[in-house]
Amino acid sequence: MLSTMQDVPLTVTRILNHGATVHGTSQVTTWTGESEPQRRSFREIGARAAQLAHALREDLGVGEDERVATFMWNNAEHVEAYFAVPCMGAVLHTLNLRLPAEQLTWIVGHAADRVIIVNGSLLGLIAPLLDRMPSVEHLVVSGPGDRSLLDGARARVHEYEDLIAAKPTDYDWPELDERRAAAMCYTSGTTGDPKGVVYSHRSIYLHSMQVNMSQSMGLTDADTSLVVVPQFHVNAWGLPHATFMTGVGMLMPDRFLQPAPLAEMIEAERPSHAAAVPTIWQGLLAELTAKPRDVSCMHQVTIGGAACPPSLMEAFDRLGVRVCHAWGMTETSPLGTVSRPPAHTIGTDEEFAYRLTQGRFPAGVEGRLIGPDGSRLPWDGESAGELEVRGPWIAGSYYGGAGGEDIRPEDKFSADGWLKTGDVGVISADGFLTLTDRAKDVIKSGGEWISSVDLENALMSHPDVAEAAVVAVPDEKWGERPLATVVLKEEATADYAALRDFLATRVAKWQLPERWAFVAAVPKTSVGKFDKKVLRRQYAHGELDVTRI
Ligand code: ADP
Repeated sequence: MLSTMQDVPLTVTRILNHGATVHGTSQVTTWTGESEPQRRSFREIGARAAQLAHALREDLGVGEDERVATFMWNNAEHVEAYFAVPCMGAVLHTLNLRLPAEQLTWIVGHAADRVIIVNGSLLGLIAPLLDRMPSVEHLVVSGPGDRSLLDGARARVHEYEDLIAAKPTDYDWPELDERRAAAMCYTSGTTGDPKGVVYSHRSIYLHSMQVNMSQSMGLTDADTSLVVVPQFHVNAWGLPHATFMTGVGMLMPDRFLQPAPLAEMIEAERPSHAAAVPTIWQGLLAELTAKPRDVSCMHQVTIGGAACPPSLMEAFDRLGVRVCHAWGMTETSPLGTVSRPPAHTIGTDEEFAYRLTQGRFPAGVEGRLIGPDGSRLPWDGESAGELEVRGPWIAGSYYGGAGGEDIRPEDKFSADGWLKTGDVGVISADGFLTLTDRAKDVIKSGGEWISSVDLENALMSHPDVAEAAVVAVPDEKWGERPLATVVLKEEATADYAALRDFLATRVAKWQLPERWAFVAAVPKTSVGKFDKKVLRRQYAHGELDVTRI
């Protein structure tokens, strides 16, 4: 028997309509680098999204399911595209600004993007590539930047504001099937070729509800979120959609992502929440050490995308800012786990250890650990295996390209449909996930596994260490051994022996690296994570100045 409930599709359009009316006065504030930021209400965003949809349909001929790409910073216009494109029945494809040219042109071709909405300040990056993007027919340019860079471009060039100016501020949005594609994002390819993940209206709707739950981000219309995580990095972790459900204000940094302007905007706009990968916060901490400012307005900072070093969490605690650690992937929309310690541990010695874990699965995400022999492992806090997840906002396949079938590689999806995350860890009896590594980053030394993350965390708790990345390198005797690459803070005095002695107080002796290299910076991926592929390559090519101790 079926229910008597209304079968209302869960669509991005419903999120937009809700935000633009019920929370119409909430604001998107975009940093401009000038004396005043740009402020736009959710009501105005809704009206301009309708105008943009008219322009895309009537002037550019964007049809159903067609991909409309964005090559943009986090800003109000990008939020407008976030709603206009899916709500009109097309598919928003956010392009990663920091990808190497070959990957970017490959992705645009694979998705068959015909329109790209681009920020003027990014024309220098995209203009030289247009000849290698034959599918692109229209460029819609928004915000300041040198338009002459597009002189002679094959694609037609439009000004965003001119295009939408005379259009009606409402749109007769179609009623869409909730399972239809709303947005897509390619994985950043840290561990291989980029793969297209396509989100549905339904997955975005349900994910947004979970983001808003108090055990996840739990923000309300009293909050403003500083959205540092790029809108091209898994939909800015769902924040633009989630905030339209609850009326949370958004503070958008646009291109001002360096530590100094970030500190400045926190001081000026006093956001109560912020979200970004650890490297951004390491940079901000260094800035705050050099030039102290009050950032305690940020009651909560969501850190994810890579493991949060304990030293980072402690440093933020000292500043009166509470870090909430979360784990996710492009394939998981991204909310996969969130670390909210159990109520009975709050205020006890146990609390900090819980906060450092990747956290618990929220309702809607199921997780299991699979051992090397394919067996399902118990949640006992000790049995380490690969994490697999499933749920309504978890990918079940990858985009196969225009006209192609979706693909389900065996190393990414189990026979019964779960996503193989490639992350290795343990789950405690009370459901807290602790990741020890990526399967590909684990150091296999003489039949034992060494966690690169444990070594990095231990090293980064040394007062002289700014950053540390540990990778596996081939070793004749042990198969693999850890190589520690370390960025020292300015005026630091520690040498390799001192760091090794320090590590010896924190990890087992057999895990101590013999190979050490001081580096000026740890190479980063396009979304700001340590790029271990590059480090391994540098080592293999003899490009690192390695000392054995
Ligand atoms: P890419 O795989 O290209 O880096 P994603 O952003 O999808 O792109 O990365 C997802 C991966 O990032 C996860 O599989 C995991 O390895 C890592 N990750 C994300 N959050 C955390 C976290 N809190 N702790 C440890 N690793 C994390």
